[in-house]
Amino acid sequence: MNATPRLEALRRRLVAESAAALLVTTRSNIRYLTGFDGVIDSGINAACLVTADYARFYTDMRYADAATAAAEGTPWEVHLQKEDLYVEMCDQLLAEGVTRLHVEASMPYGRFTFISEQFRGAVRVIDQYVEELRQIKEPEEIERIAAAAAIADRTFDHLLGVIKPGMTEAELTLELEFHMRRAGSDGVAFDTIVATGANGARPHAVPGETAIAAGDLIVLDFGARVGGYCSDMTRTVAVGSASDEQKRLYAAVLEANEAGLAAVRAGIPCVDADAAARQVIEGHGLGELFTHGLGHGVGLDVHELPTIGRRSTQSLRAGNVVTVEPGVYVAGSAGVRIEDLVVVEESGYRRLTNAPKQLIEI
Ligand code: ZN
Ligand code: ZN
Repeated sequence: MNATPRLEALRRRLVAESAAALLVTTRSNIRYLTGFDGVIDSGINAACLVTADYARFYTDMRYADAATAAAEGTPWEVHLQKEDLYVEMCDQLLAEGVTRLHVEASMPYGRFTFISEQFRGAVRVIDQYVEELRQIKEPEEIERIAAAAAIADRTFDHLLGVIKPGMTEAELTLELEFHMRRAGSDGVAFDTIVATGANGARPHAVPGETAIAAGDLIVLDFGARVGGYCSDMTRTVAVGSASDEQKRLYAAVLEANEAGLAAVRAGIPCVDADAAARQVIEGHGLGELFTHGLGHGVGLDVHELPTIGRRSTQSLRAGNVVTVEPGVYVAGSAGVRIEDLVVVEESGYRRLTNAPKQLIEI
């Protein structure tokens, strides 16, 4: 992907904030700024330094070929370090007369302390500059997210023919992840959630040896990854005939999901979108059971800006890719969550998740 406009946008921000040199160390921010596909996919040791005059990509000899090839024709200069990337980089910058450095808030404290000592305390922390750029997706980024969402849709359809009582959550998770990989996913976007029965009442349950039983609701929350970009969706299905109480919970969450989606458009404050869904659940007398925000941005990371919740201060903007995921959780009994991924547009949204949403009884 052509990342030059991203670099220029970051430079404008640095000038506005009087930051002469920014060291970027968050992996997804490095990937975004460089646009390097195939280099920063696995465990790379890397850092980026951006100033008004140059953009440097520091890595070590193991990535020499891949980084040099990826940087060709881009503004990025590749600097290969031999022993310790940070020691050598600091030595180089100090020798060049750089006296002040900005670093990201996510930098580990030990590393921050080291760099701060090298620059005699002239190190300042900035937060979210690159993340704020990342929240408006370019068409090519949306294409990758849409491709990941389509794989997840197909995987859900496949699972409907696979789920049966007696299967454990772990077995179903394996089947889910295997299918996504076979359908073209580079890997999972995040730790898959397959939570049956009472486990579904924990929004971030870890799949285990619990067997699926008739009468359960199963919460399936999962995502694929394509070209570095994530998808994120949740569906809740019933094993056997759903009880009246299960149907009541499901209907409330589905209505809230539709109300949340109906509120999505450029310019709406995120708190208002959250409220649109939350009011529906409260209207069903279930407000206390909706224990998280309505949604979040998705991109190179599964949780990005903007955050859609009760404390959000942002508004939605065209080009955001966000989830709408109301849920209710009845401790000791069941959970229901329905999560869709959409692109925010000027007058509404475009669906990336297209899996059916009516209550499916397997
Ligand atoms: Zn999810
Ligand atoms: Zn989500």
